[in-house]
Amino acid sequence: MELINGQYCIQDIPVIELAKKYETPLFVYDANKIEEQYKKMVNAFDVPKLKINYACKALTNINVLKLMKELGAGIDAVSPEEIKLSLHAGFEPEEIVFTPNSVGTDEIEEAIKLGVKINIDNIELLEYFGHHYPDLKICIRINPHVMAGGNRKISVGHIDSKFGISIHQMPLVLRIVESLEIQVEGIHMHTGSDILDVDVFLYAADILFNQARNFPDLEYIDFGSGFKVKYKSDDIETDIVQFGKQMSKKFNAFCKETGKDLTLAFEPGKYLVSESGYFLARTNTIKQTTSTVFAGINSGFNHMIRPMFYNAYHEIINVSNPEGVPKLYTVVGYICETDTFGYNRKINTLTPGDILVFKNAGAYCYMMASNYNSRLLPAEVMIRDGKDYLIRKRQNFTDLLVNQVEVNLPVEQVTAE
Ligand SMILES: *Cc1c(COP(=O)(O)O)cnc(C)c1O
Repeated sequence: MELINGQYCIQDIPVIELAKKYETPLFVYDANKIEEQYKKMVNAFDVPKLKINYACKALTNINVLKLMKELGAGIDAVSPEEIKLSLHAGFEPEEIVFTPNSVGTDEIEEAIKLGVKINIDNIELLEYFGHHYPDLKICIRINPHVMAGGNRKISVGHIDSKFGISIHQMPLVLRIVESLEIQVEGIHMHTGSDILDVDVFLYAADILFNQARNFPDLEYIDFGSGFKVKYKSDDIETDIVQFGKQMSKKFNAFCKETGKDLTLAFEPGKYLVSESGYFLARTNTIKQTTSTVFAGINSGFNHMIRPMFYNAYHEIINVSNPEGVPKLYTVVGYICETDTFGYNRKINTLTPGDILVFKNAGAYCYMMASNYNSRLLPAEVMIRDGKDYLIRKRQNFTDLLVNQVEVNLPVEQVTAE
């Protein structure tokens, strides 16, 4: 989003026009930004074989999935529904990796039927595969126990994490793989989100390289994600060029040393879509209390829960008053619970009716939205090459009744004596 002739625009389209045309609350995604991020990532690595699997839980609108397909990405899916959405969007089963956690064998069976690759994250499942599907190639998710990540909720590599098979259990894993003759085509790690330190990542990568030596059938190593994007203008983001250089060097050296012709794989979500997204909401009320000026908007954590759930910072801009004097506001939602989007934010003077834009709304925003307080889900719009497209309709009241079953309970007869 940038100022063009004094108006905030996404590509060349004034944000105010989008708010008028589609109404608020509204999610807007800049498809060209997604493409830019994808290409930045691909260009950062210099290896013979690279695969970027989009972690689609970040944003599964089928138009985003189709865009990823067009760009050449694969898919990292965490549920059978994500697999089916990806197939619907045109992905081949072999382009999809299913990386589940704590699922039953019913979901594993479903994924096998759908023909996708499967990433195994516990030993029981490994044995299950060895016994029932000795011919299927698999990937093993390893937990290297590297403490990384922006906060504990999103850090999944630590010792208490429920994810992956512990690096300390690898002797057992190898015994099972060898005795059941399981073909391990991939090994995988995903240490958590928001990795700021390239060296921490490379340290964990070394642990995976060491494990890679034990699997003769190996075709790829998947280093997961953790690529951080900017949430504020002065934020640090993962230095993808620097990381790509160092990682490629390590990877190529490993392939050369071991004589393996491997694919280097990653599965970013946030990196590809976070910055492409904008959430538009309207200011309803300005309320001055003893110590605070509250700006109340026509949304809440039912639409964007990251600020409340993760303490995530989303920059907030008043696009209706680009020249206005900045004042301090605490931006809150209309949910009957505390739902603060931002405390004491410097925002250009607000009046009711002004449109606020929340940045970094592409990843984990719409996907985590709910109907809490019986509020409707917003519409989604995609902008590509200067044109805007509605890619999901706003919900309407009848959507709230879908699947509800009205029963006529027998009324108890109360007889007056
Ligand atoms: C969520 C997830 C990702 C994506 O993480 P981002 O921080 O959005 O890049 C990648 N891999 C796995 C297994 C995940 O669960």
